[in-house]
Parts: sequence; structure tokens; C-alpha cells
Amino acid sequence: MHLPDHKTKIVATIGPASDAPEMLRKLIRAGMNIARLNFSHGDPDYHEEIIARIREAARETQQRVAIMGDLPGPKMRIGDLAEEPIELQRGDELTLTTEDILGDRHRVSISFPDLANAVQPGDRLYLNDGFILLRVLEVAGSEIRCSVGVGGELSSRKGLNLPGIDLGISAFTPDDHDWLRFAARHQLDAVSQSFVAIEDDILAVRQAATEMDYAPFIIAKIERADALDNLAAILSAADGIMVARGDLGVEIAIERIAVVQKQITEMANHFGKPVITATQMLESMVNYRRPTRAESTDVANAILGGTDCVMLSAESAVGRYPAESVAMLASIATHVEPERSKQLFTPTMDGFGGSDPARAVDLIAASVYHTINNSEPSFVVVPTQSGNTPRNIVRFRPPVWIIAFSPNATTCQSLQFSYGIHTIEVDADRSDWSGFVRQWLRERGVDSGLVLLTQGPTADNPCGNYRMEILELALGPGMRCP
Ligand code: PEP
Repeated sequence: MHLPDHKTKIVATIGPASDAPEMLRKLIRAGMNIARLNFSHGDPDYHEEIIARIREAARETQQRVAIMGDLPGPKMRIGDLAEEPIELQRGDELTLTTEDILGDRHRVSISFPDLANAVQPGDRLYLNDGFILLRVLEVAGSEIRCSVGVGGELSSRKGLNLPGIDLGISAFTPDDHDWLRFAARHQLDAVSQSFVAIEDDILAVRQAATEMDYAPFIIAKIERADALDNLAAILSAADGIMVARGDLGVEIAIERIAVVQKQITEMANHFGKPVITATQMLESMVNYRRPTRAESTDVANAILGGTDCVMLSAESAVGRYPAESVAMLASIATHVEPERSKQLFTPTMDGFGGSDPARAVDLIAASVYHTINNSEPSFVVVPTQSGNTPRNIVRFRPPVWIIAFSPNATTCQSLQFSYGIHTIEVDADRSDWSGFVRQWLRERGVDSGLVLLTQGPTADNPCGNYRMEILELALGPGMRCP
């Protein structure tokens, strides 16, 4: 049976460098599991076309690919400049205005109408990914007069960050609502919400989706300092989480990112929710065929630290080597994962998803883990309706593949986000899977070895019992029935 070489899942952002059908097929063959559409760039017509191409490429290559739409959230940007780029020097004055003007080196417009009410003299604002620092001198009507603390080059539509300043608005904006409707119309598998601060931001997305009769997998992007104080609640509300290191590195001191990434990843593992590590993983591959040693080490450390997915942004969206970037992530993962499996994980009995006390599914996951450690099964086969049982098992990062059978197409797509789970869509749920699994494996040339099979409640029998079975596919030489 052919399974991928690596268990870590790969997310690639699709953009002008990767949106051609031939390139999409290359990305999929190189190992892309999830295609990310960044709704901060491109209009609905563009994304509609790309969605159709991704689905066609997945059909042609016969690979499962999930599509995730990234909702921009309340990202503030400056408006267009009359001439660009402009060079700001330390000590210059720059006025931000909520008036819609063509900007210059003295005055630029800003997209958030209430900004003047949210800031006060002394506040620090950052432009262009944190490269330019402004200090607010005066707020007068719709104008915010600032002095440049650290200068740099500025061009149209660059982002503005206000670390620690509460804008008093939900992360889920009216614009995000429109994009969510678009995602619902095209039945995207997942949406990621930017600038989440509290669990209500995620609950707002879920409620709006439910009203649209849409049930996407919802990823909370952690990129604000205040989200770090609410991580457990956000993780409970979301289906997965992204360490969005781009804006996070502006909102908190860049020196803290490594530790914060580790904390977020550990907590997500504990909750059994997939975690995506994002941004600048192979940044130099935007221009070069090979990454730096530091970048390759960053990817490896994210995997060793427990990430489920690694993500490409500019590398695949606008870079010169999108397919090589995906292949490089796949290759690093293939080399690193055997080391990761040697790390000792102690299964805790406190519950999956933060539940307390442990439920039957938690006990089954811990039993599977111990059985794997004391035998050498070829696979763990996990029939699932919602995906909870396989997600619960992989939080212990077992060295063998979890093969998840599900009759639920949405569940199959959502399991694309989880480390070490290979998903097979089946036509129906069954009350007894043993015979089916034996036959399925035999047809794929697997007719010896040990397979662990878990079985749980089914849609027909929601109060059924959980159990774990050990299937011996054939008796080896000298073995006798017990
Ligand atoms: C990030 O900030 O790291 C991120 C992934 O979000 P975006 O690409 O929307 O800036």
C-alpha cells in the first residue's frame, strides 16, 4: 500500500506564481495537502477560477486536497500613494488620515475610520511588517500626526499594526462575512480567521456559517498579543489553530516568537487540535532554489516541536520556486519525523479537547498509544464519523500511520490538517469493521502483520461501545492461535 513519505501536512498559499493548472498539479505531486487562498489579495472572480483549477488538479492527480480560505480580519492598511515607494527617515513627520486621499511622504490615508478614536499621543504604530515605527504626537479630528521613530521604505497598501491597542471591534468583520458567504457558496473545506483575540471571534464565524448552512473547519490565526491570554478558550472554540508568525512578530517582540510558538503548539497538541506553523518558513526560496540552513532548521524544529502542518506563503504564492518549496518541506519532514517518533510522549488521561474528566475516546487513544509502544503494528485503522478519535490518537504522535475510514466527506477533508492521518472515504458506516478492514488491506497487498482497529459508536448506534481490536492478518512462522 502506498502512503506518503511524510506525516506532516503541507499548506501552500496559491497566488500568481502557482495558479496555473500545470503548477497546481506539480504542487500536489510534491506533497501539498491543503491549498490556501488568501482573501486579502484577489477578487472573488479570481478565487472562483482558482478553486475550480485546484479541484480539477486534485481529480487529475487522484490526490486529496483541502482548500482553506483565509479571512483577512481587521487588517489595517494604508491607501494608495501618488508615487512610490517613499522613503521615511527618522524624525520625519507623517500624518495618517481617515480621509480617502492619494498619499505622499507627509500624509497617507488609512482604511479604518475609527482609528483616531482608538489611539492617543505616545502610542507606537508599526508600518510595513514592523519595519517602520511611528509614535503618535497628536490626534486632531480624523488626523493622526506621528513622528517617524525608525524609518524605511513605504509603498501602497502596506499593513499598519497597533500592538496592544484595543480597537473595540470583532475580528470577524463585515468584509469577512462576505468572504465567508463566498466560501460557503464554493463549499471550501476550511476558513481561517485572522486577528482572533477571544473565543467570541471564532464563535461569530461559526454562527454566521451555520446560518449559511455551512460547516467549515475553522482555524484561529494567532497573531495578536491579547490572543495569547485567551488561548485555551480559543482552542476550545476553534477546530484548529495557526501560529501566524508574520503579524505575531509585529504584535509581540520578535525575540519571543520561538517560545510563544512552542507554547501554542504544545497547547494545541494537548487539546488534540491541529496546529499550522506559518510564515517565512522557507522565505529565501522566494528567490533561490535552496533554503538557508536556518530556514531548514526552523521547519525541522517546528516538526520536532509538534506541529501538524507547515505552511508556505510568499514562497508558493509569488516566489520563483513554488514546487521546489513544497518538495523541500516534504523532504525535511521525511528526514525529521523518525526522530520525532522517538521522543517520549506521555499520554495524559485528561481529556481531548480540554475536557475533564477523560472520556471513553481518551482512554481508547491512550490504550492505542501503549499498544503501539509494546508491539509493532503496521497500521492503526480508525473508522470515524467526526474525526475526533483519529485526532485524539495522533496527539501522541505515534510512529505508524493512522488510516481513518469515514463515510463523511467533510470529515475526510478536515483530517487533511492532522499529522499522520491518511483518510479513506467509504460508502457507509459499519457496526463491525474487522472483516471489511482485513479485505481492504488484503486487496492492497497487506496480508501479514499486526493492525490495531478501534471501533466506536456509529451514527446508527450513538451509544455503542468503544473498543480496540488487534487484527493479526496472518500467523507468522511458528506462531499459534492463542
Ligand atoms: C501571518 O501573519 O503570519 C499570516 C499567516 O497571515 P497573513 O498571510 O494574512 O499576513
